[in-house]
Amino acid sequence: MWVWKAGASLRLRGLQPAGVPGRRLLRSHAASQAGSNWARCWHCGDTGRGDGFFCPRCRALQPPDPTRDYFSLMDCNRSFKIDTTKLQNRYQQLQRLIHPDFFSQKSQTEKDFSEKHSTLVNDAYKTLLAPLSRGLYLLKLHGIEIPEGTDYEMDNQFLMEIMEINEKLAEAESEDAVADVESTVQAKQKEFTDNVKMAFEQDDFEKAKEILTKMKYFSNVEEKVKLKKIPL
Ligand SMILES: [Zn+2]
Repeated sequence: MWVWKAGASLRLRGLQPAGVPGRRLLRSHAASQAGSNWARCWHCGDTGRGDGFFCPRCRALQPPDPTRDYFSLMDCNRSFKIDTTKLQNRYQQLQRLIHPDFFSQKSQTEKDFSEKHSTLVNDAYKTLLAPLSRGLYLLKLHGIEIPEGTDYEMDNQFLMEIMEINEKLAEAESEDAVADVESTVQAKQKEFTDNVKMAFEQDDFEKAKEILTKMKYFSNVEEKVKLKKIPL
């Protein structure tokens, strides 16, 4: 769990979350609007909706709304194209509201809720920040998943390409050689990201699925590059 301090966003910027979003909160066509099923305030019984976090009457922190998806939570349009600066600002704004550090003097109930909110906000932020996990999450909201561990009818040409790049990385013995592989992978991911954005814009989810699957392969290579770059 993150401890939110001034430098947290900088640390997070370098973070590449794993490609698979969490399993929670994925009722496919859940209402995007916050609080449609929100119960009354646990503390004072008020039924006002408020901001989805605090009771408008007694200001007690409420439990997370299970119908709210990551896009709604992070104040982003439900689309692949998002404004990452806005996402970062929203993340910091939410952490200032609900971080457990601010609830150390409050009731145990509110402490627990702030932990839950905080975890959820971190997951949402990480998922939406990286193009691969954002794409996979968006697909999931449209009821499409890429099963783990199955080769999704990848064409031979693509598999050859991956094999070659893995070999090149395995054989790379200098910093330059590793950097060379890294820039190849980054260029591919950039190209895939542009293409998947287009596929989502055209509501072509099968195409998006195909490209995201390829991105997963390249993401694995990225992980290996990172490991290789760690100085011994
Ligand atoms: Zn209340």
